[in-house]
Amino acid sequence: GKSDSGDKKETLVMATNAEFPPYEFYEGDKVVGIDADIAAAVAEEMGMELKIEDMAFDSIIAAVTSGKADIGAAGMTVTEDRLENVDFTDTYAKATQVIIVKNDSAIAGPDDLTGKKIGVQLGTTGDIYADDIEDAEVERYNKGFEAVQALQQGKIDAVVIDGEPAKEFVKEAEDLKILDEAFTEEEYAIAVKKGNDELKDKINEALASLKDSGKLDEIVAKYISA
Ligand code: GLN
Repeated sequence: GKSDSGDKKETLVMATNAEFPPYEFYEGDKVVGIDADIAAAVAEEMGMELKIEDMAFDSIIAAVTSGKADIGAAGMTVTEDRLENVDFTDTYAKATQVIIVKNDSAIAGPDDLTGKKIGVQLGTTGDIYADDIEDAEVERYNKGFEAVQALQQGKIDAVVIDGEPAKEFVKEAEDLKILDEAFTEEEYAIAVKKGNDELKDKINEALASLKDSGKLDEIVAKYISA
């Protein structure tokens, strides 16, 4: 309800996929989470108002390149491939890809995934890793949680997904565990349109000030208990 308020705050449109707790998820009909809070704080630093557009994860980069969204904030890992289509701000979080299996699974680490049926979220780095595993059959789901459900139903052998959502998804699932041995470390950043240095610089400034003030840590602590 901001349209009639008469204030001239510009809108910062954020594309995300709100299926990725604790970074973005629904609380009622509102998208909340670490990315939502960081983007809101960044927008505030920039004197703008945040608007969140929820979409499929693999539509986010296209939304940013087409200008439909100003930023993509979705626990998005900086990769060389993505850098061909968008620019990334400074990173704001570290992450790992982990493996979820059933408690009684013989799979104990990445090496045991050879020839297995692996569930991933479509278009994620987990998808890319799984695709590289020899003889593995990769099942792609629109939501990470759907992959976890397929695992519980015995349709697949393992799920490869980011560590923090993995913890959220496994929290309530007594039959599942996260393996200690993880894949490589990744870093999350905010995607902006290629060449939009003005926006990128402003966001980096805002991020730096949120880091300095401790606000960033505060946001993370609100959603991730140490
Ligand atoms: N970090 C992963 C990626 O960037 C997954 C992100 C997500 O599912 N929101 O591909």
